[in-house]
Formats: sequence, C-alpha cells, structure tokens
Amino acid sequence: MIPFHAPSVGEEEIAEVVDTLRSGWLTTGHRVQRFETEFAAAVGARHAVALNSATAALHLALEAIGLRSGDEVVIPTYTFAATGEVVAYFQARPVLVDCRADTLNIDAATIEPFITPRTKAIIPVHIAGQACDMDGIWALARQRRLKVIEDAAHALPTTYRGRLIGTGSDAVAFSFYATKTITTGEGGMVTVDDDALAARIRMMSLHGLSHDAWNRYAVGGSWHYDIVEFGFKYNLTDLAAGLGLCQLKRIHEFLARRAQIATMYHQAFGGLETCTVPEVASYGSHAWHLYVLRLNLPALRVGRDDVIRALRERGIGTSVHFRPLHLHSVYQQRLGYRPGDFPVAEREYERAISLPIYPGMRDEDVAVVSNAVVDVLTAFRK
Ligand SMILES: *Cc1c(COP(=O)(O)O)cnc(C)c1O
Repeated sequence: MIPFHAPSVGEEEIAEVVDTLRSGWLTTGHRVQRFETEFAAAVGARHAVALNSATAALHLALEAIGLRSGDEVVIPTYTFAATGEVVAYFQARPVLVDCRADTLNIDAATIEPFITPRTKAIIPVHIAGQACDMDGIWALARQRRLKVIEDAAHALPTTYRGRLIGTGSDAVAFSFYATKTITTGEGGMVTVDDDALAARIRMMSLHGLSHDAWNRYAVGGSWHYDIVEFGFKYNLTDLAAGLGLCQLKRIHEFLARRAQIATMYHQAFGGLETCTVPEVASYGSHAWHLYVLRLNLPALRVGRDDVIRALRERGIGTSVHFRPLHLHSVYQQRLGYRPGDFPVAEREYERAISLPIYPGMRDEDVAVVSNAVVDVLTAFRK
C-alpha cells in the first residue's frame, strides 16, 4: 500500500520533542520564539506569529485588518473550507470567484468583477503550492483600497518573481497540518510586515492579554496582566515548535525530493492523451505540496471516481483537491450559491486527482504509482 501522504519526521524531531518534554516547559515559550524568528528569516518577513493552525492565522489576520459584519471578502471557490469559514466568523460574506483553468488559482481578472463597495479584502490561495500572479492582485488591491491576506497553506517554499511567498501582502498564512509541506501535527504561522498588525495578531492569539503574558509562569516573569480585548486561544505549544524548528531546516531538502517526484510523474504521464500534467507558471516556482493530475474525461469510459477506486484496489492512496465551496451545502443554503455558478472550477474539480508526493517516497514507490496510473488510464481508455 502506498498511502496518499506520510509525514517526514526523523530522529532529530523525536529528540527535540523529548528534550522539550524534559525541559518542563510544554506550552508557548522559548522554542516558539525561536521558531518565529527563524521562520520570519526564512521567508524574509519582518514578523512571524506562531499559531495553532492556518485557520487561526487567517481568522486573526481578518480581525487585525478590522473586518466587520456586512463586509465582503473575495475568495476562490476552488479552495479548502478554512478560507471561507474565517470570513463567516465575522458575519461577513465570502464572495466566491472562479479559478483559472491552467493554475487553478484566482487572478486580478477573475477577481475584479466581484468587487463591490462592501469589499474589504481578497484572500488569494496558492493552490497546490503554485503562486497566484500577485502583481495584478496587489495592483487591484491598491487601486480599490483592499487588504490582501494570502492563504499560503500550500506554499512553503514557493517563489513568486524570485522572492519567497511570505511578504508583500498585509498578512500571509501558513499551515503545519499533518499533510502539509512541513508539519507540527497541527500548527500555523502568520507573517506580517506591519508592526501594529503583528502586535494585534499576537495579542489576540492569547486571550487579548497585554504583551508577554505567556511568560507569566517563568522564573522572573510577572503575574501581572491586563485583558485589553476579547481575544482567542490560538497559541502554539513549545512541543509543536520543537518539531517545527527541525522541519523548517529541511524545507529545501524536502522540496528537492518533491520536485524530483513531480519530474518523474511528468515523464510518466506527459505523453498520455488521457490526462494533463500540472504546469508551472513562468513567474515562479512550485512547492509541489500537491501533484494534481487532470483527467481528459472525453478520452475515458469512466469518471474520476472510478479511476480513484481502481487505484485504491491496486494499493494507491489518492485524494481530491478541492470540491469547490459553492457545491457544499452551507454555501448553497446560507449564501444561495448553485451548481453551475463557477464552470471552470467545477469542470477542473470533476477531473482532478491528487497523487502521492512526499519526501519519504522511494523511486520504487513513484514507479509503482506511475505504472498503476498508466495501466488504469489505458484500461479505461475509450
Ligand atoms: C490546510 C489548509 C488550510 C488550513 O490549515 P490548518 O492549519 O489545518 O488550519 C487553509 N487553507 C488551505 C488551502 C488548506 O489546504
């Protein structure tokens, strides 16, 4: 069996977590501080605030820009649940837009028609680890006075015009969920260049307490604190940060292996008429968090789900990223979206299969997956 994903956790990570347990300090402490400093340096951002998920990062970024009830936030329909739910937390409206067929990302042209006087922000998502074309989105945001919060849950490390994703917008949210390019089990990070925005996010991540309250049980720490706002409980633990520090050191090693696997897949599938391999846009590099193969359904006798079933019977785990938000119940019942609203996202979703791609795969595993996909697609050919 080749699972869809397996995290790459080595002896160094295990030793660091054991050290953290022995240190007597389990929750937010010096390891979190170090993880933030090293993460900010890695992506070139001024501030990084560690949180217990990317969802928390998106939520606090929207809070810090002052999102209010009745506001609108433009997001792709082709994304995960988290991108939209955080907007709804504020009784604000997630305004969905269709994606581009080539990258599956949104861009300035797809966003612009959906901007209204109520629009407060845009959340571009770098799907699969390929950057959105940010220059156009930043220009549009400047012109219409909108905030930009990037959902970079897939995009560590991704470059856009030579720079790593993590700067240039009001805030950028990263995920360390178990299947992401690096993991802390659960965890997230938000990078921010503005000092006041970073301070607000940090304060709201720990009950809205006055600064450095996490330190109140340390030797030399003070028990004094003031509740400045009604905040949240989104801080990361030192146990998770210990994992994160080890994983962060390996981002380029991990990427190199994922990129090799992507190349092997391209070679295996590039010549087939039954599918289309992912393309890398000329303006950046791809993090290869996901390898989304797209089936050419008119050339096949079956649908995508039959291909997934046939691969599972051969011991290959796959997944689908993503079922567009407008096809889900809550978006239809609460926001009035309907099937057919976003034809590109629907068409691409119907033919998308995410194949296993992670550093722990050996060349033999990649060959097993490649051969199985080629065999299954050949067997199902019209
Ligand atoms: C995984 C994911 C998130 C949420 O990340 P968590 O750390 O699990 O909160 C947000 N957006 C996208 C596109 C994701 O894939």
